[in-house]
Amino acid sequence: VSDTLQKLYLKAATIEPRKKTYFIGPYGKRVSFASQQQRALNTVWALHDAKEIKQGTRAAVIGAGLCGLTTVAALLAKKCLVYVYDVLPDVLEFQARASHRFVHPTINFWPEAAIRPTTQFPFFDWFESICSANNLRLREEWKSHFRDLTNRVYLESEVTAVVYDPDSGKVKVSATGGSAPPIAEYDIAIVATGFGAEETVTGVRPTPYWEPDFLSRKAQEIKDIVVSGTGDGGLVDALRAAHSHFEDGRLVIKLAQHLDDTGIKELIKKAEEDVPVRAGGSQEAAAPLFAEIYDQLASDMPPICERILTKSYYRAEPVTLIGPLSHPYTLNAAPIHKFMIAHAIISGQISYKQGRLVDGPWYDPKDGPREEMTSAYCIVRHGPALATPLSKLVSPAELDELKQTQVRIADLIDPAPYTSAFWALRGYPRQEVTSRDFIQWRFPLAATYSIEKYRRPIGVRFDNDECGYVMRSDGVGPAPAFVPNELFGIRLMLDEEIANDYAD
Ligand SMILES: Cc1cc2nc3c(=O)[nH]c(=O)nc-3n(C[C@H](O)[C@H](O)[C@H](O)COP(=O)(O)OP(=O)(O)OC[C@H]3O[C@@H](n4cnc5c(N)ncnc54)[C@H](O)[C@@H]3O)c2cc1C
Repeated sequence: VSDTLQKLYLKAATIEPRKKTYFIGPYGKRVSFASQQQRALNTVWALHDAKEIKQGTRAAVIGAGLCGLTTVAALLAKKCLVYVYDVLPDVLEFQARASHRFVHPTINFWPEAAIRPTTQFPFFDWFESICSANNLRLREEWKSHFRDLTNRVYLESEVTAVVYDPDSGKVKVSATGGSAPPIAEYDIAIVATGFGAEETVTGVRPTPYWEPDFLSRKAQEIKDIVVSGTGDGGLVDALRAAHSHFEDGRLVIKLAQHLDDTGIKELIKKAEEDVPVRAGGSQEAAAPLFAEIYDQLASDMPPICERILTKSYYRAEPVTLIGPLSHPYTLNAAPIHKFMIAHAIISGQISYKQGRLVDGPWYDPKDGPREEMTSAYCIVRHGPALATPLSKLVSPAELDELKQTQVRIADLIDPAPYTSAFWALRGYPRQEVTSRDFIQWRFPLAATYSIEKYRRPIGVRFDNDECGYVMRSDGVGPAPAFVPNELFGIRLMLDEEIANDYAD
């Protein structure tokens, strides 16, 4: 098994016949921060297993987003000599101002994956929270644990070429700007450059996904809102405009938690398994099949879920959602988003039109004449721009190959068969969820989460068979509805008073 996985992880990161150069993402079926981090760990594990890296290997990591930083930590744990490049002025800069986006470790993968509010990594763990707040905490971890690396972190340095030199057996990395050497040789290069900027439409003011857009305020004032694009970005923004209580994304989690106990969860899971097969992988064929199922499920949900959604709708005019398919349901969009869109359409809060928003801006319907859209407030979520960061480093054919390989196999997001001892890194205790060191080390993050989410403090308990955190009752308000039984993999218990509240 180990050998097969090692080959798969390396295949998912390779463009043949490029040697010693590996690409972690950006493609996959459902790509998220957490899935990219897991891919980083799995790829480094595979590189080590395949003896592509060892103590002293000179490694360049290109891109200092969360995937890049996780790769750096993993390579350092394997005692490589690591150099980091990023074109931006700081690490984790791309999403640093996203105070309007709530990020969650597993929600995009629900119901296939459980709703887990925390990640479980040896480094750079985080919890469901506002994106910019998470970024701050992750940057703190970077600053306190990776200070020694400062001279080898090249910021404001754009990598312009990554080329394997067969004579020296090294990879040559060319860069411009910042403190990076114009050209440097490495034993290996790992590229983690992300999706980059999004596609734009002439005549529509760009609203980059991770930059504050004040949409919840604007949606209260603007009658005619148009969201173009039916990937997760478009679905989320249509929902943000349609709901008064979207709360940056917390509404999505709340609904999924309520659905988690119902038969609807199993039906969604089945639909997500069956439809791709019935549609033979075709987006066009899948859209009406999803529509039939999601319409039915959204009309038939438990009253509490119906109330959660209905009381949050507030618009007199529906939000217009535009997409290329007959219905706004793609194979890769998160099931919970599709479910919420189906409900908003049934409720008259979102109106769906098949077609495209094109330069002008014009609405170009599938059938019929073009309509001018200059009076509407338009949001374009058409996915990454054609020129992604990677397209500057590899040829179009190579990019296409990488995309196909990664969409096919890169979603193996279970941890590779590594042990906690595998990631031994100075300053980090081993990720052993019953060990005192690890429980204490994770405590500040767990305590912050408990206060932020539940308004309840937690303590640490070390009894023979009860090691973990204990949520205390001295918080504000009634006992929270859903409390997980673990944080970062560490057991979370309830003190007697809270436990009695639940028993009541
Ligand atoms: C529209 C959209 C919405 C998304 N929503 C979510 C969501 O809600 N939840 C979620 O979990 N995930 C979401 N994702 C996915 C998430 O953004 C990525 O999985 C995550 O950013 C991956 O991190 P990364 O480090 O691979 O890439 P990034 O965060 O993009 O980091 C890449 C880094 O590489 C640097 N770089 C690029 N090119 C070069 C170069 N040539 N030289 C030097 N440096 C370079 C960039 O400056 C950047 O810092 C979304 C993605 C998109 C496009």
